[in-house]
Amino acid sequence: MTGDPAAPHDRLLVGAMQTSPDAFVVLDHEDRVEWWNRAAERLFGWPVEEAAGQLLTDLVVPEQYRAAHHAGLRRRAAGARPRLGADPVQVEALCRDGRRILVELSVGELEWQGGRRFHAFIRDVTDREAARGALELSENRSRTAFENAPVGMLLTEVDGDGFGQVMSVNPAAVEMLGRSYDELRSLSLGAITHRDDAPLDADRVPGLLRGDVDKLQYEKRFVRPDGRPVWVSFSASVVRDIDGTPMHAIHQLVDITERLAAAQQLVRLNDELRRTNEELAAANAELDRFTAAVAHDLKSPLMAILMHADLMVESHGHGGALRGAAAISRSARRLNALIEGLLGYSRAEHAALRRQWVDLDTLVDEVAEELAVAAGGRPRVTRDRLPSLHVEAVLLRQVVANVIGNGLKYVAPDVTPHVHVSAEQDDSTQAWTLRFRDNGIGIPSASRERVFEIFHREATDHPGSGIGLATCRRIVERHGGRIWVDDGDDGGSVVSVLLPPSG
Ligand code: ADP
Repeated sequence: MTGDPAAPHDRLLVGAMQTSPDAFVVLDHEDRVEWWNRAAERLFGWPVEEAAGQLLTDLVVPEQYRAAHHAGLRRRAAGARPRLGADPVQVEALCRDGRRILVELSVGELEWQGGRRFHAFIRDVTDREAARGALELSENRSRTAFENAPVGMLLTEVDGDGFGQVMSVNPAAVEMLGRSYDELRSLSLGAITHRDDAPLDADRVPGLLRGDVDKLQYEKRFVRPDGRPVWVSFSASVVRDIDGTPMHAIHQLVDITERLAAAQQLVRLNDELRRTNEELAAANAELDRFTAAVAHDLKSPLMAILMHADLMVESHGHGGALRGAAAISRSARRLNALIEGLLGYSRAEHAALRRQWVDLDTLVDEVAEELAVAAGGRPRVTRDRLPSLHVEAVLLRQVVANVIGNGLKYVAPDVTPHVHVSAEQDDSTQAWTLRFRDNGIGIPSASRERVFEIFHREATDHPGSGIGLATCRRIVERHGGRIWVDDGDDGGSVVSVLLPPSG
């Protein structure tokens, strides 16, 4: 073999073969290489001189397929016709350096220079197939993402300066829009857009198609077949060809119908709540005005009754008339105390809160003094060192007087009343808690909340109106604080008043 099978009249053909970008190989009837072109040399790495005379199978067929190839050759030697076809086949081939490549093979048969030969065009398609594989993979990924996306997705045509006919739609969009896949594919996006939202699209879409923006996002409505609107958060972007001409539009739809309904419901509830609050505040203010007015109006005739009863006691100092007048006087005094209490309760809510520094040592001493005088000097009030607090002086005095007064009042008959006042400060909040500890009859745990309700009384064998602690709570709460009651360590009660720092 010479490596050049061409007779002079075939030189033209051989020259042409040498310029072919595909490998070209001529085999004798036993499948030995007679000649191959430069592209084959480049592809397989064997110069034609070395390739010539060798079995093609041994040269370029990977080890694992060789046995099958040799069997084929033996069948051919025994007279079987090779399977030749016009269509190229894809096979794996081996290069001299051990690389495995994928080639496309078009085999033919010819009679030449007195013998039967085979020839083949061989094209390296490794890269093409790898690219096709990558493309398929990427298409698969996109399709899977599209199909399984939890948001609605549509692919539409682009029609002039708007979105056109639906080309593809995923199951989430089918569900959201309430129309079948086929129906949606027969419609344009405009046909299922809510009439009132068509101007939104008309405003924005031309800019997207022109490329002024990369993406659109806004809220709009589509219409289901039953006429029901579906509110969606809508995004759209455009797929362009390499010239930048818009080809398709991709749309994403997130159903926000429920979110909007919930938000609207929230607004409605808030409105209702605000209205109810306003009504409540108005009703409270009205009630307080009423209480104050009634108390004032009751007070003047009452004072007149009291005065006349006292005069009667003084001037008709005998018998039934005296007892009657004394009873009138007692009732009138109780009524007066009740009215005073109501006035205090109303004031506790409405008096301006003018804070000033109040020295609690002095305040407690003064209140203790007044109460001792009223009780004929018997009760004892003791205290630790107390702080000065920035509070409304008159109102705080009312609290201190009420709480100490109760501590001294609600004691068993044979016990000398004793109230001890102490105070402690919370390091982190700086709030002060005043504690009023008494040796009284205590308050049942079930009633510890209720004693702060107006008119609630526990120990009805002691005089009182049930207004004192309710008034205290109003005052303390207006200072931003809290008041509560606990059991004392050895009987009695501890009333605590927590007052946060002002401002
Ligand atoms: P009043 O003393 O005029 O009845 P308050 O509102 O001051 O009204 O008190 C409500 C009720 O709480 C009282 O009737 C009394 O039963 C109970 N109470 C208040 N302070 C004490 C206390 N320190 N010890 C025992 N019971 C108390």
